[in-house]
Amino acid sequence: MKKYILSIDQGTTSTRAIIFDRSSIALFMAQREVKCYYPKPGWVESDALEIWVSVIDVINEVLVKANLTMKDIDSIGITNQRETVVVWDKKSGLPVYHAIIWQSRQSKYICDSLEDKKQFIHQKTGLLINPYFSASKIRFILDNIENGQQRAENNELMVGTIDTWIMYKMSHGNIYATDVTNASRTLLYNIFDHCWDEELCKLFNIPISMLCKVNPSSYKYGRASFFSNDVYICGVAGDQQAALFGQTCFSKGEFKNTYGTGCFMLTNIGNKPLLSQKGLLTTIAWQIGDEFTYALEGSIFIGGALVQWLRDEMNLISSAAESEEFANKCQDSNGVYIVPAFVGLGAPYWQDDAKGAVFGLTRGTNKYQFVKACLEAIAYQCKDVIDVIKKEANIDIKSLKVDGGATNNNYLMQFQSDILHTNIILPKCVETTALGVSYLSGLASSYYKSLQDINSCYCKNKEFHPQMSIKKAKSIYRGWKRAVRATITFKSK
Ligand code: ADP
Repeated sequence: MKKYILSIDQGTTSTRAIIFDRSSIALFMAQREVKCYYPKPGWVESDALEIWVSVIDVINEVLVKANLTMKDIDSIGITNQRETVVVWDKKSGLPVYHAIIWQSRQSKYICDSLEDKKQFIHQKTGLLINPYFSASKIRFILDNIENGQQRAENNELMVGTIDTWIMYKMSHGNIYATDVTNASRTLLYNIFDHCWDEELCKLFNIPISMLCKVNPSSYKYGRASFFSNDVYICGVAGDQQAALFGQTCFSKGEFKNTYGTGCFMLTNIGNKPLLSQKGLLTTIAWQIGDEFTYALEGSIFIGGALVQWLRDEMNLISSAAESEEFANKCQDSNGVYIVPAFVGLGAPYWQDDAKGAVFGLTRGTNKYQFVKACLEAIAYQCKDVIDVIKKEANIDIKSLKVDGGATNNNYLMQFQSDILHTNIILPKCVETTALGVSYLSGLASSYYKSLQDINSCYCKNKEFHPQMSIKKAKSIYRGWKRAVRATITFKSK
């Protein structure tokens, strides 16, 4: 039996290759930055060829670092930034336009024109009509290249999310496929019927014939023949779903939260989709064999970004890590609340026009309390989302598995545990996204026998237990809710 699984993690700003063995530890890693271009305000693009070259580079580098060859690799897993799209020419295999990145707002006008179809779209996809998702980005590209629509209808163009693009290149054009988790972020895939939806394709005027095959997340996709004829790609998933799998949240009611620039909360809601009335997204968590697992997802726009703001704009701290030292220098935040509505407020408030606010300042407020209040704001926002998930999905939270850069902050983690009155668990392997697709890949290749087999590989690093009284936690959380209400009602003009 071959010893290793190779995971590719294609993110917005970098591509990484990681080698795992059965101990679920990231043994070797290689990383390349990928440039983002900002051609106009609100537009974000990347060069799809540069992305592909970065994949080649990191695979070669990680094999060299590990002193391995493809002969040692059992199978390959791919996880990727979601929603980003590439359109390329079928004959030449070259992109016809830059990849449009998930953050990009350039196709907003297309979504605005479909505002009255919002309910219809939500009921099929579990998503909101928003330029964040892929469909309007594809429409934008077809509108902005020569004879785009005609070439699409003549089957001269191919289109895909980043996983599709990478697999196509890795297989010399033999694999033209995506997995259900990526498909479920396009606004074109019906998460109830499990197929590209003709009515949605018509709505965006995207020929259904140009879309690729949709496969399970754990599945033998085909050979990575660019690198080796013996190695198969066997696992594919969007980054957040891969992280949910990497955290082994295999049962209904298990939660994971990623504390990065923003925060991404996903909860396994079992094998039936459930539509949210509070602006949470319903998404496919993974498909293994014929079985689908669904997740509810809530994103918080400003998470670790609040700490970056303290460092870069306010110059209050010199490093992200220093925020913890500051927080430990005062007993509490002394009634200070910071509502970081820097880009409006996301789930569950959905207030596009809200601006950030600070409450509870006194003459005695100091910078340590201010920084502490910022860390607490991250935790409060996560509680807001969890409370809605608990209510809508009718589930209770037993523990919260966490990952991402800001989980290095012990104060934040302890406060999160206090305010939720829940244990917070950090895994040994922080590369949960890459780990997730290594599991999915290993399941399809028989490297792992079962989910139980994978569960036994899970290794926790640290656990935080609630220390604050429930009474106090409730009381300070009420203060946060009042601060949010005041932020939403505040009008500067
Ligand atoms: P992304 O994948 O979104 O770039 P990462 O998981 O790499 O995010 O985490 C980076 C974020 O984590 C940054 O916003 C940074 O401010 C925050 N961060 C990193 N270390 C700490 C820390 N010790 N305390 C608080 N925030 C931190």
